[in-house]
Amino acid sequence: MAVRPTPVRRAVRPSGQGHPEGVLPLQQSRLDAGSSLSERDGPRDECGVFGICAPGHEGSRLSYFALYALQHRGQESAGIAAADLGGQIVTRRELGLVSQVFGEHDLRTLAGDLAIGHVRYSTTGSNAWENSQPVQRSEGTHGSRRELALAHNGNLINAVQLHNELLERGVTFSSTSDSEIIAALIATHPAERIEDAIAEVLPRLRGAFSIVAMTKDRVLAFRDPHGLRPLALGVLDSHNGGRPGVGHASGSDDTAETVAGNAGELSARKRAEPGAGEGVGSGVHYCVASESCAFDIIGARHLRDVEPGELVTLGPDGLHSRIVLPDARRAFCVFEYIYFARPDSRMNGQALQVARGRMGEILWREAPVEADLVIAVPDSGNAAARGLARASGIPQDDGFVKNRYVARTFIQPGQELRKHGLRLKFNPLPEVIAGRRLVVVDDSIVRGNTTRQIVQMLRDAGAREVHMRISAPPIKHPCHYGIDMSTREEMIAHGRTTEEVAAELGCDSLHYLSLAGVYEAVGAGAGGRQSHCDACFSGEYPLDGTGEANGKYALEEPAGIPLPLVQA
Ligand code: SF4
Repeated sequence: MAVRPTPVRRAVRPSGQGHPEGVLPLQQSRLDAGSSLSERDGPRDECGVFGICAPGHEGSRLSYFALYALQHRGQESAGIAAADLGGQIVTRRELGLVSQVFGEHDLRTLAGDLAIGHVRYSTTGSNAWENSQPVQRSEGTHGSRRELALAHNGNLINAVQLHNELLERGVTFSSTSDSEIIAALIATHPAERIEDAIAEVLPRLRGAFSIVAMTKDRVLAFRDPHGLRPLALGVLDSHNGGRPGVGHASGSDDTAETVAGNAGELSARKRAEPGAGEGVGSGVHYCVASESCAFDIIGARHLRDVEPGELVTLGPDGLHSRIVLPDARRAFCVFEYIYFARPDSRMNGQALQVARGRMGEILWREAPVEADLVIAVPDSGNAAARGLARASGIPQDDGFVKNRYVARTFIQPGQELRKHGLRLKFNPLPEVIAGRRLVVVDDSIVRGNTTRQIVQMLRDAGAREVHMRISAPPIKHPCHYGIDMSTREEMIAHGRTTEEVAAELGCDSLHYLSLAGVYEAVGAGAGGRQSHCDACFSGEYPLDGTGEANGKYALEEPAGIPLPLVQA
């Protein structure tokens, strides 16, 4: 039986003073992994980040609500770092949901104009307090001290090398997180300006990273040059209920510092960004978030996505932008559209609810079937099921009632209840299902355990036929860019044909949306593969050195070497 540690409230710890023995071996980390009642039989290990510079506002309270909107990206820990302009950074982070970690008292303690926040979800790494974020580090001597808090979504594929290098320099760590490696590289860099330190460090990082960081006087956000994980830029206008009007646009070219690439594009965009260059009292404040749904909840407006390779600085003098890494092959995670992101978020100009509906329409076009009723696996299949029903003309109904309060539980069901398994989450409605030929829509299958149980529950409830339609291609390869997808061997589609998977699941037919169908649905068309990552479907990893990362990881467990492998 997996026993999860009970969240314990702890005081903020000073960082940068960790001890090597504090680094947890991976085997120990995995004692925490897995739960038979985990929310989904799907990919995991997402994180959500948020940052805001809003003099005159409660940065931590805005962060709290933004993290609330990003809770789906990480449910194991939550944290906020905050500071008054020029003051001390205070961080609170803890295991648990945002609503469990923060109370009114915590938000008052975290008062300040600047804040960054993080939610974390990691089942393969330790969910210990040490790996929660934001990471806070303080480096240097009194005269040249750099204090930094940092929150990260993604995964470095060269974390081991960087970690070893830092250890040789005498840098100590208090976590097993690759995020702390990034924080340590920046905090220990000799450059006077934090922007220059980041610009020097970024080319050394390989892998996926969307990062928010803060010093005592600014918030910084940057994204890997491939744009693997999302990062959006928003604007909060206190004069206009968070909806700045055109009249506020007053940016000037000198707010855009551009050292390489895309100079014209960014300068042109800056001219259109409201309040660019405006300072304290302008009423226009900027924020960054993993997803645009975080802006909606705080009354901010989504301006655009942070560009791959771009560093944006949100300070009292407004917004500054700088491309710090040259153009690279774009590789936005196509699974964000299908699965990870909230349907009310917008990414690359796409409203995800709409894109997922189109996936259902294309699913029908690719694999029509004689049927009486369309049902979704709630909630993951809802949007695609609606699209499929629309395209097919087949009626849609709820085949399951979902218990929305069963998520990750500390209490395991025990042997007697275990046989009822998934009924704790989904209860089928025999009155809707019995005697019907069903098209059942979901957004992905990884190991197949959940889908197998769903098919069986539907048959037990009297379904005549069960035709599974999945709005993603078969998942056959692990992700090395921040998502836990089980091992290849655990993936039901690995080494099996679709017909063999259907037989394993016990359904009458099975169709996975084609990759071409995915790209059509998200408006990326035939050229979509050149600007996205689809490696978990295709096995074609877009970043050089990904295979090398596999080798490094393969060395860890047998040796029991404590390495920084927890993904953010
Ligand atoms: Fe996304 Fe899959 Fe690529 Fe990972 S491997 S970044 S989950 S598309």
